[in-house]
Amino acid sequence: MVTTRRPLIAGNWKMNLDHLQSIAFVQKLAWSLKDAKHDYQTVEAAIFPPFTDLRSVQTLLDADKLELELGAQDLSDNDSGAFTGDISGAFLAKLDVKYVIVGHSERRTIHHESDEIVASKVAAAHRNGLVPVICVGETADDLEKHGPSAVPVAQLKAALETVPADAEIVVAYEPVWAIGSGQAATPEQAEQVCAALRETLAEKLGADQASATRVLYGGSVKAANIATFMREPNVDGALVGGASLDTNEFASIVRYQN
Ligand code: PGA
Repeated sequence: MVTTRRPLIAGNWKMNLDHLQSIAFVQKLAWSLKDAKHDYQTVEAAIFPPFTDLRSVQTLLDADKLELELGAQDLSDNDSGAFTGDISGAFLAKLDVKYVIVGHSERRTIHHESDEIVASKVAAAHRNGLVPVICVGETADDLEKHGPSAVPVAQLKAALETVPADAEIVVAYEPVWAIGSGQAATPEQAEQVCAALRETLAEKLGADQASATRVLYGGSVKAANIATFMREPNVDGALVGGASLDTNEFASIVRYQN
């Protein structure tokens, strides 16, 4: 069965833009997409601001009826209680957050998040009606030792442990060596791993869900290279870091078809 997957371009702001800056940024981004008559049904666009921006951005999206989707960069695997500094999926859902990034390599490395924690966060996202964007990817060292797909596939298998049948997920293949380095994977490299990830989805969740699930590529994506990734059959969009912090650049990535 071949399913048409709506491409998703997701902007991960990381720890950039405070809540005041976020308002000006989103207004400008929404205006340039509106000016260009962007059809959000053809290509979905989502932004992932820091937690402290979410309320301001949500209010703006709601007031101006903007079609940009809202995402968060992380969540707790608990829903409430004595977890100082953590943010629950329930809180995010209250702010109309649709997506939440889980297992970004910066969380895995800097915050020592294990595959088990990632799986537990995926479950917390689903428990609260959020769609987890599950990030997987190998380091340069992994690539040399294990080849291109072994580590991302193993990370995805671990993250899928808690996924109920039919629950929506997005997968993002982000080679750690390509993140923020300016050296993106080649479209062929991205396709090879995204295809392997889709096979893993089919094994674990069944063929229908595998063909309906969006698999994104991330790592030094910019306006100049997005179209080359989007030509690959198993790449359904991009998770964009640095280039999502410039409204014109991000709008051009969203509008890669034009
Ligand atoms: P980058 O980051 O686009 O700056 O390489 C991607 C990411 O970390 O999601």
